[in-house]
Amino acid sequence: MATSRLPVRRAARLLSCLPGGRAPASQCIFHARRLLAGVQSASVAQFMSRERLSQASCEMNGLERSWQRGKCEWKRYIQTENHESARLETSSAKTLMDIGTRRIFSSDHDIFRESVRKFFQEAVLPHHGEWEKAGQVSREIWEKAGQQGLLGVNISEEHGGIGGDLFSAAVVWEEQMYVNCTGPGFSLHSDIVMPYIANYGSKEQIKRFIPEMAAGKCIGAIAMTEPGAGSDLQGVRTYAKKDGSDWILNGSKVFITNGWMSDVVIVVAVTNREARSPAHGISLFLVEEGMKGFIKGRKLEKIGLKAQDTAELFFEDVRLPAGALLGQENKGFYYLMAELPQERLLIADMAIASCEFMFEETRNYVKQRKAFGKTVAHLQTVQHKLAELKTQTCVGRTFLDSCLQLHSVKRLDSATASMAKYWASDLQNNVATQCVQLHGGWGYMWEYPIAKSFVDSRVQPIYGGTNEIMKELIARDIVIDK
Ligand SMILES: Cc1cc2nc3c(=O)[nH]c(=O)nc-3n(C[C@H](O)[C@H](O)[C@H](O)COP(=O)(O)OP(=O)(O)OC[C@H]3O[C@@H](n4cnc5c(N)ncnc54)[C@H](O)[C@@H]3O)c2cc1C
Repeated sequence: MATSRLPVRRAARLLSCLPGGRAPASQCIFHARRLLAGVQSASVAQFMSRERLSQASCEMNGLERSWQRGKCEWKRYIQTENHESARLETSSAKTLMDIGTRRIFSSDHDIFRESVRKFFQEAVLPHHGEWEKAGQVSREIWEKAGQQGLLGVNISEEHGGIGGDLFSAAVVWEEQMYVNCTGPGFSLHSDIVMPYIANYGSKEQIKRFIPEMAAGKCIGAIAMTEPGAGSDLQGVRTYAKKDGSDWILNGSKVFITNGWMSDVVIVVAVTNREARSPAHGISLFLVEEGMKGFIKGRKLEKIGLKAQDTAELFFEDVRLPAGALLGQENKGFYYLMAELPQERLLIADMAIASCEFMFEETRNYVKQRKAFGKTVAHLQTVQHKLAELKTQTCVGRTFLDSCLQLHSVKRLDSATASMAKYWASDLQNNVATQCVQLHGGWGYMWEYPIAKSFVDSRVQPIYGGTNEIMKELIARDIVIDK
């Protein structure tokens, strides 16, 4: 794995160590990929002269050049790579959010994580309070994330994505939880909506949507749930009727993440009412903002996820061209079943990342809060509670890292993804309750981050398939004769 990433990594280092190369690491990796693919992107040219650019290209092609700094960086790189086997697991690290830990990651990912962390701390965290009041984030933050190469990280470059691996996508999910800012619906956009288009879309659909979505200029949503159909997806009523080569769409959806800001929505609709089972008569459509009859209802008021826009959507005789059908007619249910494990995995990974954040937040709090003449952290009952929380979180992290590893080689099955989703989101709620308790009355105050973590946790066992449905899926796999 390390060998295949070596040239890109080396190129990235060269780009950043050359005089004038001041781009953040994520951009360097992004540009290095392009350089290696023979594309000298305009933004590279902006911060490097033509001569230096060609020097970098030569170096990347294996010609020996010896800029003093470049050599140093190269040596440091080799040393780091050799020590990858010695990476700490979070249980032994100084904090549960340390960069440079966990066997599933490499030093490439660490560089990427540093830049993602900087992005969330500098571009997202300071604005989150105003977004919570507005009930949505700004459009600018989507475009900024696009410019930083943080959207569609795990979508292939040939489709217009960033071309990173699954672990890099996970870095973005986790870092968002580490700043405790749930507003931007990046993970749903990048790792739920974009894969449907990349995996089942026509060439035209891929070309039209993926690059714009990776740039943050087109925001994606997926609309399955209806007022009368949530857990039971086969109960959807939204109906698309054929009219010549067009479709006429009617129905409504509810609880749609990114719904209010969306530019493109994947809509689940019945296309064959006579099918032998509802699952055989469901299709997916790409419905775009501005289409006649596509109406966005109110932004729903939620008890948590205050900065994330969740909306109702209505479709009143929306005329869709044949090219709006995603994949094949009546195959929608199969596509949903194939993509749901990734959705569950990302919910689970974000749940464990949230536990890691809450644990560190609480550890810091009890170490400075005084009661009875000493810090709360001196009390043995508090220490034991922290020991329990850390142990549970680290056990969860180990299982999640194993699931990430399995999914990276396409071996994560539906039952295992369901176990991760149910167990991690339940743990997140338990950790949130305990951490609020350890904060005392301040934990109930909105100004304290733990209060926000507490309310944001609550939805995790509900969406992406409720935890009761997860147990159904796990149980089915247990009792089936294999
Ligand atoms: C903030 C938020 C964001 C969301 N984002 C999206 C989105 O982007 N796109 C989208 O399509 N949907 C979205 N949803 C919808 C979400 O996926 C559904 O709410 C969820 O699937 C549950 O459906 P329901 O609300 O209709 O509950 P119901 O299906 O009515 O369930 C009610 C209760 O009955 C239980 N239950 C139902 N069936 C069974 C069974 N067979 N066995 C045992 N128990 C059962 C459930 O577990 C639950 O406890 C979102 C929801 C929220 C709250």
